[in-house]
Amino acid sequence: MLRITQRVFQDLAIWMTGLGLVMGVVFPFFVRFMGVPSNLVLTPWFFAACMGAGFMVGALNILLAKNVVGGRLRLLAERIRVVEGNLRHMAAGGGMEGCAPEDCYIEIDSRDEIGDSARAFNNLVTALATAHQSESALRDFSRLLASRLDLEILTTEALQQLMAHTKATAGALLVESEGQLTTRASHGLKNIAELENNDCVGAALRSGQRQLVRLPAGIELNGVLAEFRPSEVLVDPVMYKSVPIGVIVLATGEAFGEDALHRLGLLRQALALGLNNVLAHDRLQRLAALDPLTGIYNRRFGMARLREEFSRAVRDDSPLGVVLVDLDHFKSVNDTYGHLVGDRVLVHLVKLARSVMREGDVLVRYGGEEFLAILPAASRGDCVEVAERLRRLLSESAVTDGEQRIRVTLSAGVASTSELSVDSPNDLVHQADQALYQAKEAGRNLVRAA
Ligand code: GH3
Ligand code: MG
Ligand code: MG
Repeated sequence: MLRITQRVFQDLAIWMTGLGLVMGVVFPFFVRFMGVPSNLVLTPWFFAACMGAGFMVGALNILLAKNVVGGRLRLLAERIRVVEGNLRHMAAGGGMEGCAPEDCYIEIDSRDEIGDSARAFNNLVTALATAHQSESALRDFSRLLASRLDLEILTTEALQQLMAHTKATAGALLVESEGQLTTRASHGLKNIAELENNDCVGAALRSGQRQLVRLPAGIELNGVLAEFRPSEVLVDPVMYKSVPIGVIVLATGEAFGEDALHRLGLLRQALALGLNNVLAHDRLQRLAALDPLTGIYNRRFGMARLREEFSRAVRDDSPLGVVLVDLDHFKSVNDTYGHLVGDRVLVHLVKLARSVMREGDVLVRYGGEEFLAILPAASRGDCVEVAERLRRLLSESAVTDGEQRIRVTLSAGVASTSELSVDSPNDLVHQADQALYQAKEAGRNLVRAA
């Protein structure tokens, strides 16, 4: 169309009314040609009437076009402005509040270019909403992971999020740490132990590739989900710098959609970062808290634990006992058999001590060959019993070095808040130390109580 003005509808109006006028001029000749006498049609009045009618038709046409097409274009422009406003709002960290797809969609009521434009616009709104959902899911997920340093909390919350974002009905999160793959969080899956040895999980870990499979044998779904048979199970390795550090297992009754798989890919990267963070933090904490030779608490962390237990005992008005153990003539063991054998004796003692202690008791490497056992709720009698059992076990056992059988004994001093009036954890240990001194003085291989 030859453009006349800067406005499409104005051009259209000029063309339509112009065409009407031309029709008005041509019509009388046409009618004459059809046989109507010229004195009736080739008159100024008839020309004027035909041109007027042509003009009117043209004007009505443009009004109709403006109303039908223009109305739709105005709606499209108005919705595009809303989307634009939302994009600006989202760029500033906000959400897509004013233009949820269902509010922003344009009705598709024609099968032509107008309908195509409406469909294209609706698809654009859907794509924007999906992109925004993925982006905000990733942002929330990363924020959640960054704020968690406890492996259990992190894996539980991460699994919840992964399931919600992929609409999975069941799932599990396995973490690989020190060569051991362990299920740290699960929901709706039975036989978790089998999961760790599952072929698909192994394949995902080895290949670093996502496995999308039918339900593997051995995984059943429990209780609440008894009716549910998954149609797809997704096994996705979590990689940090090309090293597998975990596996995501998700099951759904319906197939996973493209969007869900794409979103999972993004979340998986954030999970890898968060998980690696927590594992590194765990390793550092363990390094800082544990004695490398025996694997029990070192003195610094052990004393912190003692302070915690002391406070708890005061709060709960329950007793707290300690046993301080020192090996007898240990220097001569080192001198005779060497330091490495001495180390093995220390490890042997820790093993025996663990066997006589209850769950909840804490063993601390207090000094070179001195150990402190913290026994919550233990009276003096309980402490003496534990120390006596350990003393007997050690004196009756031996550490072998080739042909040699090395026998070692210990002396122990015990103290409990149940029989003593102590005002601090240090005071309690001091009392046990005094008792230990008495055991040494009295000839060693003995237990004494404060
Ligand atoms: P006592 O019966 O009076 O306790 O005699 P003792 O020889 O055990 O005397 P003491 O407790 O003073 O000696 C501590 C010895 O423990 C000295 C040191 O060689 C040894 N020791 C301390 N830490 C370690 C360790 O990590 N490994 C080994 N092998 N020996 C250690
Ligand atoms: Mg000593
Ligand atoms: Mg000693």
